Amino acid sequence: MDYYGNQMSRLIEQLSALPGIGGKSAQRLAFHIIHMPKERVEQLAQTITEARENVRYCRECCTLTDQEICPICSNPSRDKKTIMVVESTRDLAAYEKTGKYEGVYHVLHGAISPMLGIGPGDIRLKELMQRLQGEVNEVIIATNSSLEGEATAMYISRLIKPTGIKVSRIASGVPVGGDLEYIDEVTLLRALEGRVEL
Ligand code: ZN
Repeated sequence: MDYYGNQMSRLIEQLSALPGIGGKSAQRLAFHIIHMPKERVEQLAQTITEARENVRYCRECCTLTDQEICPICSNPSRDKKTIMVVESTRDLAAYEKTGKYEGVYHVLHGAISPMLGIGPGDIRLKELMQRLQGEVNEVIIATNSSLEGEATAMYISRLIKPTGIKVSRIASGVPVGGDLEYIDEVTLLRALEGRVEL
């Protein structure tokens, strides 16, 4: 039975297709949207469209940004010779929140996973290796401590070692399988400061 009519049902259906939104949440959101002032709904729709249109990968670090070069890479006071490798832009955001890291990042957009058929060519590794042709003192590998994150760290360190650039891995203490974005800032800082050379 279609209680709502076609358009309401379509809205609920599309919302529930988003990650983490079940049927009930989708219904709640749909009702909320319908009761919002029209201008606010237009604003929301426009923000979504514009973000999708303009957000892309930073030409240097591959993080998501609406500029050619992201604000971190274009900040002259950041140390370009220290590169922290993370799996996602959300992980980058977690480290940025600590306010204590002064280097730059490289965002892989994933991790190597033979189980899921994700190989080195499917993440932004080639771009990292290209960056290392410039002047780089240290690469800090901050992939997650999941199986995939560890495999990726191992793979990258093997790739970089022959170049003579220092490679380090953030200290364990970050809970196994834990997504970096859910870990508090103190733990992140401790993991960074306690990093070990590979
Ligand atoms: Zn960047």
